[in-house]
Amino acid sequence: MDITPCLLDIRNPLIVDGAALGSRIAATGKEHLWEPRFLPYEVNVIVIHSVSAEALSPAEPFDRRWILKTFCDYGVSSHYIIERSGEILRLVPEEMKAWHAGGSIMPEPDNRQAVNGFSLGIELAGSSVSGFSAAQYEKLGELCSDIERRHGRHFTYVGHEDIAGSRAVTAGLRKDIKTDPGPAFSRQEFLERLEALRSSGG
Ligand SMILES: [Zn+2]
Repeated sequence: MDITPCLLDIRNPLIVDGAALGSRIAATGKEHLWEPRFLPYEVNVIVIHSVSAEALSPAEPFDRRWILKTFCDYGVSSHYIIERSGEILRLVPEEMKAWHAGGSIMPEPDNRQAVNGFSLGIELAGSSVSGFSAAQYEKLGELCSDIERRHGRHFTYVGHEDIAGSRAVTAGLRKDIKTDPGPAFSRQEFLERLEALRSSGG
């Protein structure tokens, strides 16, 4: 499938606010915004997020440049971002651990902690106000179906809010409560699309 490479490493040439993303990453002393996974973790969870750069750029909150600058500023990352148009950007190689979940715990009865170690993160550009575009649902389904086919297994799907909400705070794993992707994201629509792609072999 069509995926635009945009790896969050020191060679990333995308210019934001007068400086390349790569130079912003280099300035933090890192070579890239990911780290190796500790084997033998099996990657079997996909965490769905929503992301917006409203604070940095109220006029263009879903522009990739501002979203990725925010990632560099905060030292966070995800494997993919799906833009409003449906364009998919690859930010972190799947075999590497991205920094998208933070302090986290899987829902009962799984209960595994530190979800970054065994998950992929997918960001949908959007907010509780904008909701998500038809193209984003379409591409999210295709991407997840493609990932399942390549990894040869079905994944477990959770929202960031399911693993980094009040339960994670109560467990002492984090201080703030994540609420994305929130009720504006229709899990039913996504899961129906994924199921249709699974059964059509696509
Ligand atoms: Zn999130």
